[in-house]
Parts: sequence; C-alpha cells; structure tokens
Amino acid sequence: MKDNYNRDITYLRISVTDRCNLRCTYCMPEEGIDLIPHNDLLSFEDIVEFTRTAVSMGINKVRLTGGEPLVRKGIVDLVRMLWNIEGIKDLSLTTNAVLLKEFAKPLKNAGLQRINISLDSLDKERFAQITRRDKLTEVLEGIEEAIRVGFKQIKLNCVIEKSKNEPDAVAVSKYAEEKGLQVRFIRTMNLEKGEFWIVDGGEGGNCSICNRIRLSSCGKVLPCLFSDLGYSIREFGNEKAILLALENKPKSGTVSSNNQFYTVGG
Ligand code: SF4
Repeated sequence: MKDNYNRDITYLRISVTDRCNLRCTYCMPEEGIDLIPHNDLLSFEDIVEFTRTAVSMGINKVRLTGGEPLVRKGIVDLVRMLWNIEGIKDLSLTTNAVLLKEFAKPLKNAGLQRINISLDSLDKERFAQITRRDKLTEVLEGIEEAIRVGFKQIKLNCVIEKSKNEPDAVAVSKYAEEKGLQVRFIRTMNLEKGEFWIVDGGEGGNCSICNRIRLSSCGKVLPCLFSDLGYSIREFGNEKAILLALENKPKSGTVSSNNQFYTVGG
C-alpha cells in the first residue's frame, strides 16, 4: 500500500505492552509509569485480527516491540499465531534480552525470524546507570542463547549520545564483531522536541523512504512516531484505521507530545 508521498508501506511495528523490566534513563522515568490498565491492552486475538487485515492490505514485515515484549504473558503463543498468518515474510522482535535466555528457543520454534537486542554498554556499572537495573549478566546470557539456538542476523541496538566513537559504543561494536552480530547506533531521540536522526546501520528516521506504521499497545494505528496522529481500531475498525493512517501519514516527522517510547515501541 502506498501513502500520499508514494512511499510503499510494508512494515508494521506492534507494541504489545507498555511494561518493562528495565528503566532506561532515555525512555522511562525512574519511578515508573502509570501503566495502561490490562483490559485496555489489546488481546492477542485483536492483534492477530488487525495484523491479518494489515497483511491483506500490503504489510509483509512485522516487528514486535514494547515496553519489553518478553514481559507480556504468552508472547510465544502470539508469535506462533502471527507466524501462521499467510503473507508475513519477516517476523521479528526487539528485546532488552533480560529474559531472552528463557525465551530464545521457544520463540525460534514458534517461528520468530529475527531479533534485535538493546545493548548500550558492556560496562556493568554503566549498564546499571543507564538502565537503572543490574542486569548486564542476564542480557549477555540471553545474547549467547539467541546465538546458540540459531537466530541469524542478530542486531544490537546501541543508543548513543552523539557519536559511535563514544567509549560504550566502541565496546559494543567490538563485542558485536567478536560474536558475528550486526550493530546499529541510535542517537538519543526526543519526541517532544522532535529530535531524531537516521539510525546508523538501519532505516529508521529516514522519512523520505519511511515504510512503516505502528500499532500501539492500546490499539491506535500511528502513521508516524514523531506525530500526534493516531486512529483507534476500537473506534474505526482495523481497515478504516489503517486507511486513515495512510491518508494522513506526514511527509516527515515533527514532534509528538502524546507518544512515549514505551507505549509505541520506538
Ligand atoms: S519520523 Fe515518521 S515519517 Fe519519519 S521515519 Fe519516523 S515514522 Fe517515518
């Protein structure tokens, strides 16, 4: 499906929860957040039905995000249900890997194709400073398990201040090289200020070739991360909400005061 700027929209990012087991300083306040009431979160049936409609309209690449998707109970079942939808060519997930040691194999068996793993530092203290949790060991064990069970093209998402020459980023690059992983550098973004950059090693943030729409964890179709536009599938239905998102997808991102990274999955 095409938007008004002739961009081919083939990529759907689905936030399955606003919950997370880390508190990264650039994403979540230390005290946590007012969680979306569980009943307001989309059910798996809602997500699958929506994705089926989106695939029938031209989506073929789906990524699961959060918050942290692995804290959503039954996530492996959701992956299996989505992978059974004919027409999905690429099913992936972005995780902070804290729980990945436990989930890597079941996710692989359920049909998950690719994994992106958030890793901003290999220094235990720095990691704890950035994420406000002492979980580096679990994350590295999760990465090892993802490699062991055979995930290919594992990508590390490394958030940087300004440059990939920052000490943490250099260490993550070296680690990725040693493990045969890819690394992408994401400059810290600010939704309210409209600060974002093209992802180094990826396509995110490149508005001229943007191919994505998002589904938030409480059922809004978002045409753009850096915009306050959103269309509720509960109000408009799946197809109409997607069509509205396409019709109103901005040429490029500006600012967003409604979205938070943990409710729309970055
Ligand atoms: S800011 Fe909006 S238009 Fe630009 S790449 Fe991101 S989602 Fe696409």
